[in-house]
Amino acid sequence: MKVCVTGGAGFIGSHYVRAMLAGEYAGYEDAEVTVVDLLTYAGNTANLPMDQERLTFVRGDIRDADLLASVLPGHDAVVHFAAESHVDRSLVGAVPFASTNVLGTQQLLDSCLTAGIRTVLCVSTDEVYGSIDSGCWDENEPLLPNSPYSASKAGSDLVARAAWRTHGLDVRITRCSNNYGPYQNTEKLIPLFITNLLRGRPVGLYGDGANVREWLHVADHCAALQLVLTDGRPGEIYNIGSGVEVTNASIADRLVELCGADPGLIRYVADRKGHDLRYALDLGKITKLGFTPAYEFAAGLESTVRWYRDHPSWWAPDAG
Ligand code: NAD
Repeated sequence: MKVCVTGGAGFIGSHYVRAMLAGEYAGYEDAEVTVVDLLTYAGNTANLPMDQERLTFVRGDIRDADLLASVLPGHDAVVHFAAESHVDRSLVGAVPFASTNVLGTQQLLDSCLTAGIRTVLCVSTDEVYGSIDSGCWDENEPLLPNSPYSASKAGSDLVARAAWRTHGLDVRITRCSNNYGPYQNTEKLIPLFITNLLRGRPVGLYGDGANVREWLHVADHCAALQLVLTDGRPGEIYNIGSGVEVTNASIADRLVELCGADPGLIRYVADRKGHDLRYALDLGKITKLGFTPAYEFAAGLESTVRWYRDHPSWWAPDAG
C-alpha cells in the first residue's frame, strides 16, 4: 500500500503520517507514505519521523503539475491536507487561500486522474457551512462560507465533487470541526493561549468570547479520516466532530487553570471581522460508519497543555 499525503508536515497531516507509520491503522501497518509539502510557515519537518524508511518526503507545491506527475504514479491513495488554514491570515490576504485551496486542489485532482490514483480523500472543514445559531448541519446543507478561508475550502470541496461526478474519480470529502492537540502552530487559538499563558503573557479573546466551536482531538480526526478512506464511499461527504461544544471564553478560563496563570491575563479584544458565532455538525453518517471519538475533551486539553509545557523547543526555539 502506498499513500501520498499532501500537507503532511502540518498539524493534522503530520499526525496522520506519524500514526500510519506507527502502525495504528489496521491493514496499513506496512504502508509506504510519501509526503508532498511546500513547507510554508505552517509546515515543519520536525513534525515527522524523517529517518523512518517507509517515509519519503518531497518538498513541493500541489499547484506544480510536473512535480505531481513525477511523484503520484504508483500510489494507491492520496490524502489531501495541504491548505492555507488560518482564518485570520485570510482576512488580510486571501489570494494564497484561493490559489492553494482551490487551484491547488484542482491541480491535484487532475494529476490524480492522470496518474490513475484509486482514491482521493479531501480533508475539509465544517466552516464551509457558515454559522448556525441552533441545531446542526448534515452533509446536505448548502455551503454558505463567511471567511475567505472557508470560501476557498468550499471551492475545494466543489471542484473535488465535480472530479467525481465528471470523471468518476473516487473522491471522498470530509468536513471536520475544530481540532486541537500537539504540534499545532501557535497562531491557532488553543496553542496561542497555552504558549502565552505559560510565559505569563496576556491573551486576546475576540468579542465577548461567546463563540462556540465543536472541538475534536487531532488523533480522533485522523482515525475518522482513515475510516472514511477504508470504509467510505466514492463521491460521499462525511462530517466529522465530537458533539462537544465549548465557548472560547470557557476554553480560555480552563487554559488559565491548566497553565497555572493569572486570570487577569485574559483581555477582551475587538471581534474578528465576520466572526462565525457557532458551528455544530450532525454526526449521524460518520457514527454509522463506526466512528466514536476516543478522547474526552477535558483530558485531551490537559494532555495538550502538558505537551506544550514539555516541548518548549518545538514552539519557542529560543527557550529550548
Ligand atoms: P496547517 O496549516 O497546520 O498545515 C498545512 C500544511 O500544508 C503545511 O504543512 C503547509 O506547508 C502545507 N501547504 C500549504 N500550501 C501548500 C501547497 N501549495 N503545496 C503543498 N503543501 C502546502 O493546517 P492543519 O491545521 O493541519 O489543516 C490541515 C487540513 O485540515 C486543511 O485542509 C484544513 O483546512 C483542514 N481542517 C483543519 C482543521 C483545524 O482545526 N486545524 C479543522 C478542519 C479541517
